[in-house]
Amino acid sequence: MRPLTRSCCSHFRSGSLPLSRGAIRQLLRPSSPKTLYSPLPFWLVRRNHDAADASAASAHVHSQKADAIVVGGGAAGIAVVGNLLEVIPDGKIVWIDRAFEGGAIGQLYRELPSYSPAGDYLQYALNLRTFRDICDAAPQPNVFTALKDLDLDMTCPLYYAADLLTLISDGLIQHPRIEPILGNVTRAVRNPSTRNWRITLTPNHDLGEPPLSIHYTAPLVVYCTGSRPRATDLPIHLSRLTLETCLSPSRLARLLPTSEPRTVAVVGSGHAAVLALRNLFRLAAVSHRQLRIRWFTRTASLTYAAFRDDDGALLHEHDGLMGEAARFAKTMLEGERLATSGAGAYITRFVLPQVDEKEAAGMSEKAREIMEGDAMRPHLEGVDYVVQCIGFERARLPEVRPGLGPLAGPVGTARRLVFNGLTGSLFPSSGSRNEVLGLFGAGSAFPELELAVEGWRQPAVGVWKFMRFVHKMVPRWVTATKVGRFTRAEDRDLEEGRRRYHEYY
Ligand SMILES: Cc1cc2nc3c(=O)[nH]c(=O)nc-3n(C[C@H](O)[C@H](O)[C@H](O)COP(=O)(O)OP(=O)(O)OC[C@H]3O[C@@H](n4cnc5c(N)ncnc54)[C@H](O)[C@@H]3O)c2cc1C
Repeated sequence: MRPLTRSCCSHFRSGSLPLSRGAIRQLLRPSSPKTLYSPLPFWLVRRNHDAADASAASAHVHSQKADAIVVGGGAAGIAVVGNLLEVIPDGKIVWIDRAFEGGAIGQLYRELPSYSPAGDYLQYALNLRTFRDICDAAPQPNVFTALKDLDLDMTCPLYYAADLLTLISDGLIQHPRIEPILGNVTRAVRNPSTRNWRITLTPNHDLGEPPLSIHYTAPLVVYCTGSRPRATDLPIHLSRLTLETCLSPSRLARLLPTSEPRTVAVVGSGHAAVLALRNLFRLAAVSHRQLRIRWFTRTASLTYAAFRDDDGALLHEHDGLMGEAARFAKTMLEGERLATSGAGAYITRFVLPQVDEKEAAGMSEKAREIMEGDAMRPHLEGVDYVVQCIGFERARLPEVRPGLGPLAGPVGTARRLVFNGLTGSLFPSSGSRNEVLGLFGAGSAFPELELAVEGWRQPAVGVWKFMRFVHKMVPRWVTATKVGRFTRAEDRDLEEGRRRYHEYY
């Protein structure tokens, strides 16, 4: 059987060089703002790099100074870059990503239905003057004009968000104060005496280019490096189907054979699991008639987001199903309905052993997964592929050396770096009271902890939520970097955020 490995996107199309004018042109999509479609703000048509700079860079070790460095070109990175442009009026911002294609939404999730209302995406674009200028300068009709025609309170296909992010990203990489770099950041080292971070990039080995070392220095660095689906050990050896594949109907259709029997096990019951089940069911019902699905879930009764009657507050915003996922789950999967629904012809559900609240409280997640693995084992007989939809975790981070006395060594493993979800700052370890100066995080890797309607704090994940957080925090990050610490008024947030974040991550 051909294993279906993690197939990712079109990352690394080019080396980690500052983009030459030609490279930028290649990267831009037809709807990108460009001179052809004037009138353009002057900064959209000027380039800060000429070809000579780029070829010089390819010949030597390259090191340049900037006012800020942003790693990541997804929804969060785009928001941070836009806000930095407004907060640092004259500074140069180095922006690094592996593809500049709108991050995970642009590359992996564009075929999904959205859980956010269309208005969230419009709000994201309208929140900053630079973004509004980019959207206005793009040839029309475009995604920005199309979004305005939607019912802004309703969900929409996620490709609206994907196209909007790539449109804004294409505009930003032409900004004269932004230096876009295609590449992979491997390391961030802080020099306490100069108060600068030195970022190292690796070239794209896929192109067979000679290794090239590029360094940038800046006092302020923001990691917007995204997250990836969590995976745990399976009780028996089985080929995996990646979650990204299951969330892309076109990729799924290409990878699974149409005329041979295949059985896919889906583990989980959240938003991603329901969408994976929906995509597999649709294939089985239409083109892949011999496809069967075994669904392993902790509960047959799913959780839905819903508006509270008395005040209209959204309950279960963080863990409940919304939009098309909720509609599919209610009509096809929920409780007894599965047995008689269209999906029930292809999907067999296995409810994993229930653990009562007391027992669950005393049990680690790992122990629970082992117990569930044992329960799943007999039902995995005859399964060809497994997809785990059991949450997301921080993607692998570049190594971080904050240069903090005895902690001069690397601390940047996802496990050790502690994030403050109220301020966006980072700590070298859970016991540390000293924040890592000048390094901040945002986006799905480092989400804000927002107060849920239910009264507890939850990671705020979504395009608009990232913008809301960084819009509030970027001015404070810039000030904190200048003065060498967060100001007194923010100390309480710093303390509370660190403590609370630890409860979740
Ligand atoms: C099933 C599903 C449905 C969703 N639906 C919605 C929705 O309806 N509405 C909504 O708002 N959100 C939705 N989201 C959430 C959204 O997709 C993610 O939260 C968002 O893409 C995260 O953005 P980000 O910028 O944090 O990370 P990403 O989009 O993952 O971007 C990270 C970027 O950093 C780059 N990078 C990482 N490490 C390095 C490095 N070392 N060097 C250089 N570059 C690096 C990567 O190449 C990538 O481009 C959904 C997510 C899922 C999984």
